[in-house]
Amino acid sequence: MDSFNDPLKDESIKLKIAIQKSGRLHDDSLRLLKECGIEISNGVNKLKSEASNFPMEVYFLRDDDIPQYVEDAVADIGFVGENIVYEKKKKVEVVEKLGFGKCRLAIAVNRHDEYSDRSFLNGKKIATSYPVLVQQFLDENNINAEIHEISGSVEIAPGIGLAEAICDLVSSGSTLFTNGLKEVETVLQSQAVLIKNYQLGHVQQYLLDKLLFRIRAVKKAKNNKYILLNAPNEKLTEIISLLPGMKSPTVLPLAIEGWSSVHSVLSENEFWEIIEKLKAAGAQGILVVPIEKMII
Ligand code: ATP
Ligand code: MG
Repeated sequence: MDSFNDPLKDESIKLKIAIQKSGRLHDDSLRLLKECGIEISNGVNKLKSEASNFPMEVYFLRDDDIPQYVEDAVADIGFVGENIVYEKKKKVEVVEKLGFGKCRLAIAVNRHDEYSDRSFLNGKKIATSYPVLVQQFLDENNINAEIHEISGSVEIAPGIGLAEAICDLVSSGSTLFTNGLKEVETVLQSQAVLIKNYQLGHVQQYLLDKLLFRIRAVKKAKNNKYILLNAPNEKLTEIISLLPGMKSPTVLPLAIEGWSSVHSVLSENEFWEIIEKLKAAGAQGILVVPIEKMII
């Protein structure tokens, strides 16, 4: 086999990935790689590191810079918030949502303002670190407002008389609350995504596909639970009809006459509702177990 057919044999070829050096996405980015079986030593103040068991080189960068590095092919791929991808408008492809770093880019005004609709924002000053996305939102809604770009501590702008509204990232809303603000509009729902350079080489694409296969298996496993329960045989048909399973549930006889053990996989979304129905249908000793990887 030559090195193209099996790039993992050629030690000089690496998939270069950019992740956040420190901040809200750093730990989850490394955790996801680890769950994909990729071990990275993360020395303090290191800018670059290598995986020990996957042909991968990791660059630790400020999140704002990641789209540029990927557009310029300094890194092949990156993990970064959608908010940054769409604000920076770099030419990169969004390949996969990663399920962490969830937040929203929201407009907030003074808690005591009477905000009935978006026209409130006409003629107002909005402080933000996201001028591109805010301008887009204003244009789409025919609002004429002035954008005041600041790089941090946006939430104090109304309190010091710099602006009448702000647009910033929110997850729980507690920062807004402590600054006397209320959330009134959502400009963007965001989470961490995997981005890639548009002109990836064949081998890099091969390695990315390998990584994506693992990421999807990890994500699927997180959204599903393995369930085991005992049921009297006369209730089996009803219980099995409640269980989706990957193909169909596994049914095994118990040592006690007239009883069976049923195994299946349930998705997180429908989980509680189905558990209640199973109990009502006569299921006993229900065990729910996390799944580590799921390949279907
Ligand atoms: P850097 O030093 O890398 O520029 P930063 O201070 O700009 O870091 P962080 O505050 O670490 O960035 O946030 C990184 C990303 O985490 C955000 O761009 C966003 O995608 C996501 N995020 C999730 N929840 C929140 C939140 N409540 N506030 C801010 N960002 C959040
Ligand atoms: Mg940043």
